[in-house]
Amino acid sequence: MLKKNKHAYFFHNLPPDKVLAIFSDRTYNLGFYSTASQKLRAKRQSFLKPLGINFRNLVCTKQPHLNKIILIKENHKGKGSSNFKDAISGVDGLITKTKHLPLAVFSADCLSIFLFDPKNEAVGLLHAGWRGTYKKISQNAILKMQKIFGTNPNDLLVSFGPAIRKCCYEVGFKFRKYFSSDLIKRKNKLFLDLIEANLKQLINTGVKKKNIFDCKICTSCQNKRFFSYRREKEKAGRMMSLMMLK
Ligand SMILES: [Zn+2]
Repeated sequence: MLKKNKHAYFFHNLPPDKVLAIFSDRTYNLGFYSTASQKLRAKRQSFLKPLGINFRNLVCTKQPHLNKIILIKENHKGKGSSNFKDAISGVDGLITKTKHLPLAVFSADCLSIFLFDPKNEAVGLLHAGWRGTYKKISQNAILKMQKIFGTNPNDLLVSFGPAIRKCCYEVGFKFRKYFSSDLIKRKNKLFLDLIEANLKQLINTGVKKKNIFDCKICTSCQNKRFFSYRREKEKAGRMMSLMMLK
């Protein structure tokens, strides 16, 4: 269900003739951080050109690690494609029915979530950190797709991108305030299962478990291939997760 082509990983649980759903590895730092605009454009172009995508069409947001979802239309095309200041503010989730509009989120430990509604031909792409997860970003996205596109959660096909997982995501004991069942205690340390928390939100909102595919990549365990903010701190680059209706 996951295929690799050079530096891009493709999800094949989402129909490849209808939707492009991919993420990058650490070959290129594709996020806004620690990269000058000119270099950023060159890197994005190097990654996307072989995939037949013009990086200038990318729709990017500033990702405040919260739960706001926005409907993306043709007029958003290119927002944040070349620099941070033009990216859409205050948003961690993008949904659209517009074809040939590449949506992007950037991560280095946070979970990217890909949603595809095959009946209405609509997509959603989320950047789920712990705050967004606590504030129910997955549930918000589905409810918004339901309201705007008439999505039935039963039909949704979902993919989980790379993220830091319960093996490595140590958190402080204050997290007990936010999460009740997705914390694991090992040797007097606490670990958060960000994937399970989002999985539950999706299932509780009506998504079928069999329709959810997880790539199972831990960015911290596989730091040689992926960026991890926890491992590399400020030096960490960002992977791109990209979703586009064909
Ligand atoms: Zn790990």
